[in-house]
Order: sequence, then structure tokens, then C-alpha cells
Amino acid sequence: MMGFTGRRARPALRLFRNPALPMKITFLGTSSATPTLRRGLPAVALQRDGEVLLFDCGEGTQMQLQKVEVRPSRIAMLLVTHLHGDHVTGIMGLLMSLKLAGRTEPLIIHGPAGIKDYVLGSMRYLRLRVDFALSVEEVVPGDVLHRAGYDISVFPLDHTVPTLGYALEENMRPGRFNVERARALGVPEGPMWGRLQRGDCVLLPDGRTVAPAEVLGQPRRGRKIVYALDTAPCRDAISAAAGASVLIHDATFAPEEEALARQRKHSTSVEAAAIAQEAAVEQLYLTHISARYTHAAPLMRGVRRLLPTARIAHDLMDVEIPLRE
Ligand SMILES: [Zn+2]
Repeated sequence: MMGFTGRRARPALRLFRNPALPMKITFLGTSSATPTLRRGLPAVALQRDGEVLLFDCGEGTQMQLQKVEVRPSRIAMLLVTHLHGDHVTGIMGLLMSLKLAGRTEPLIIHGPAGIKDYVLGSMRYLRLRVDFALSVEEVVPGDVLHRAGYDISVFPLDHTVPTLGYALEENMRPGRFNVERARALGVPEGPMWGRLQRGDCVLLPDGRTVAPAEVLGQPRRGRKIVYALDTAPCRDAISAAAGASVLIHDATFAPEEEALARQRKHSTSVEAAAIAQEAAVEQLYLTHISARYTHAAPLMRGVRRLLPTARIAHDLMDVEIPLRE
């Protein structure tokens, strides 16, 4: 099983050997504490290489999963930000449904201190036993979860209870293959090209060896997806989001409710945009929207001036994340 293999030590850059993996983010619930008819409680699914990662699991997440092309059986990991009801009350329902569906694949749940008591305690009260391997692991800021093809870094957020953000970053992938250079070196077109592209040396018929560095450009950055809610604007989120492909950030309030946002330790949409701008994020999705907003207009005021690519997430919205060049 892939999974939690170490803390704080970040390995040297590894080459990402499988170059064309689709990645898709699906917003399952985009409301804040109260669900509305149009917005469910927080949850985001990220699909990559046949596996699903779930960020938070608000009440109703399992219903939302039925409306989109995300197979619950593929959920390998649930990453919980904090122990407020709107982010965790969907966990029991999801576990019950996975059990009834006959799941056999293992599931890992990560979250802040208390997640283990909450999940295992609730299961005890409900007399819920699952037939698959379930592990619940508490994590702290600075932890890095090493997975096949990517790492997830855990960072602190600024909320009314201990809250964690998660930054998923793919390993570097090989640079672009230089066809002319390969031909000039006498590498025959065919399987040898593929091996060089995957980072292996090849032995030519005349006895010469050609190394990948001779035919590949600079290694390319992997995609980086950062999930930061619930939180007031904080430096840790800016550092964690540096250069991200996508930042999903708390935008509970419109800019005129800044005082309320401070009091409740949330962010306004403009504050989220300022963070994304400072972190040089490519794409910002605003979520955790207060039930008071039935239209996007008040939330978007002043946002696009800071970050033209910013969008307000809505339930069941899905977004493909292209590879980086
Ligand atoms: Zn919340």
C-alpha cells in the first residue's frame, strides 16, 4: 500500500516516469457552515492516475459523489482540514456506503489531532465495522506524505480550531524529447526513444551509450494543487501556495464583511485573491461560500482586478488540470 512513509524529510527531486496523467478536480460541496439548495457542505475530489483523493467530507458528500463521475471505490485517501461539523459529518455516511458496496480496497484518513478519536469513536457508537483496511492517521504542520508520483505537504492555517492545509505536488517529469538530437546521435526510432523519454540510458548497436540528458530538455515541473480552508489570510498559506497550478481557498465572505471574516477567522474573496496573487498561483477557486450569498456578484467585486483567472467554485463543477510545460 502506498501511503504515509515519513515525516518532514523531503527527498531529492525524483523524475516522474509516467508523463501524460490526466488530473481532474471536482467540487462536491462549496458552502460554508450551512448547506443551501445550491451549495452542499465542503468536499473536493481530486482524480489522478485512477485514484481519488477527497479533501474534507461535509454532510451529503456521498450523495454528491453519485452525481459526478467520481467512483467512491477509487477513494484512496481522505484529507481532513479540521474538526468542525461542516467538514467531517459526511465521513460516517461515506464509510457506511463503502462498506455496503463491498469495498475491499484500503482507505487512509488524515487529519489534525482528534480525527482518530472522532472517526473511531463515531464508528464505535454506531457499531460500524468495515471489511476493508481503514487507517486514521493524525498529521501536523510540516509533515509530508510521500505517495507514488507526488507528495502532500501539510501546513498550518489560521482558524478558530487547529486547522491544516494540504499542498499536493507532483514529482518533476522528464523534459521534452529532442527528436533531431536523437537522430543526430544515431538512436533508432522505436522502443529506444521511449526508454530515453522514461529516463533510462540506451545501448546502441555500435556499443555507444546514450543518456537521457543528451536528448531531453530541462525536467518539467509537476502540477501543484493547494487546499486552504477554513482560514483567515495567513503567511503559511502564501508560502504553501507558491507557484501552485491551482489554489482552492476560503472565501466565506464578500469584501465588505471583512470585520466579520476576522472575527470568525475566515477570508473574504478579495483577501483570497490577494493571497493567490502574492503566491503567483495560476488558477484560484473561491469556495466555502456563506449561505447569505445567492449570487456571485458581491463576492467577485474587486477579485478579478487582482487575479483575472479567479473563479467562484460551484457544486459539481469539475476542472481538468493540464500538465505543465
Ligand atoms: Zn467550514
